[in-house]
Amino acid sequence: MKIPESIRIGGVEYEIKYKDNLRDGNRLLYGQINYDDCVIYLSTTDGTGHQHMCITLLHEILHGIREHAGFEIEDEEKVVDILSKGLYQVLQDNGKRLFDIAERREDDATN
Ligand SMILES: [Zn+2]
Repeated sequence: MKIPESIRIGGVEYEIKYKDNLRDGNRLLYGQINYDDCVIYLSTTDGTGHQHMCITLLHEILHGIREHAGFEIEDEEKVVDILSKGLYQVLQDNGKRLFDIAERREDDATN
């Protein structure tokens, strides 16, 4: 999985930015989604392994999907956490089966 520069959620383009010492009060955060500014922040100081950052991005995307759908989820953090980890594993292990991501052949490049 790649971490893009921006991602569209519910028709809104969210820029992905990197930030040191991401916190919510005293609580350490690996990522944060800001619905007003349309930004997803990823921490550059905590949980910075590539896999961890991908799971954090999926986590924030799921918050975004929930927000744009306009409903509340009981135990949202827990639900989003379970789904982001599960989704990451399924997409990583089955990406080629699910998406058309075959390498383009040279002779296809002109088409
Ligand atoms: Zn969260």
